[in-house]
Amino acid sequence: MSYDAVFLDVDGTLLWVDMDVRGYVEDLAPYRRNGDLTVESARGPVWKSLRRHIKENINHPTSGELARFKLENAVRTARELEIEAPSPLLTEVAERRISFNPYPEAEGVLRELGSRGLPLYVVSNWDILLEKVLRDLGWMNYFEAVVVSAVVGSEKPDGGIFEEAIRASGVIDPSRAVHVGNDPVSDVRGARARGLDAVLVDRDGGGSPEATATIPDLGGLPDLPGFEGK
Ligand SMILES: [Mg+2]
Repeated sequence: MSYDAVFLDVDGTLLWVDMDVRGYVEDLAPYRRNGDLTVESARGPVWKSLRRHIKENINHPTSGELARFKLENAVRTARELEIEAPSPLLTEVAERRISFNPYPEAEGVLRELGSRGLPLYVVSNWDILLEKVLRDLGWMNYFEAVVVSAVVGSEKPDGGIFEEAIRASGVIDPSRAVHVGNDPVSDVRGARARGLDAVLVDRDGGGSPEATATIPDLGGLPDLPGFEGK
């Protein structure tokens, strides 16, 4: 049996998100109200701002709402750091100092699975701009569709987003599809609860008893049973 559809998580699975705190400080130190803006003092608030974005973006499902939310988030972070800069600059810096970094093996594995005729789908907890990130990486051609929490209105591990992925893929028997991700709860438990197989990409070695298979990084994915293709 080769899977009829392969669903893939993004953050922690295909790429990692990084914040260039040093760059943020470089850009905004001139706007600090009093005293020096140090990398050490900025690190906490800058990462907290990313976590806030991840947690709350689902409440902002249009580009206008998302832009407003990003602005408010950037202003809030600046305020915590006693930075007084024009708002457009704050959002511009936030945008410039975040980066999306593919794991070294990710693109080769996408290409290999694609060449075997396995239909690939992104299933991600992300804001409505995920397609732009994937397009900028030159990855959109690897995927039949991109299923995003902020668009669907449901976040993993909830069933709704998996339901939408199953619908988009046209898979009739969920056990003929597999979800691949790095989170034991969002990815593995969520997918298993919906009847999908689940591969844990266990980069931090935490494990999951519920996973159909566990691999340390994506490199081993094409060798797992079910990934032979047509
Ligand atoms: Mg993830």
